[in-house]
Amino acid sequence: MRTSFEGLRCGVCECELREDYFSLSKRSQTVTATPSGNVVMVSEDELVTDFCGIECSDYAEVAITSTLTTPYPSGDGKTVPCSLCLRPVDRRQPHVSVCMAKLEDASKPWLVTANVRDERELAVYCVNCAQPHRARHAEPQRDDSTSVAFARI
Ligand SMILES: [Zn+2]
Ligand SMILES: [Zn+2]
Repeated sequence: MRTSFEGLRCGVCECELREDYFSLSKRSQTVTATPSGNVVMVSEDELVTDFCGIECSDYAEVAITSTLTTPYPSGDGKTVPCSLCLRPVDRRQPHVSVCMAKLEDASKPWLVTANVRDERELAVYCVNCAQPHRARHAEPQRDDSTSVAFARI
């Protein structure tokens, strides 16, 4: 049976992943406020790397957040400071967010999937620091930042 962690290795210690693992991803997203709460529209979810457990994911998290001016964007405000340059990031506009998720494989013989047990936002970037990808331009194969440019409205 195939699983969501099959063939994946930890980005820190390189051991094979088990059914509980962590995943670091970089997303292009837009937050829309609705009466029932904020809805996050993800136009692109780019997996950065996976980790075998809390020790390795913490190690990577510390390494990442130590390079930021202000990690862990807080509050549910519509505007948060960019984690690098502190410029305001309007969450209602496409922006890049970096998340660490704790996953648990939930694959079935007919479906490869994993449940998100916990998720933490490590950083939010303004368009000057990281350009979000737009849904209609998102393609599976692309040469990261340069080929798909963010078009300002
Ligand atoms: Zn590891
Ligand atoms: Zn910035």
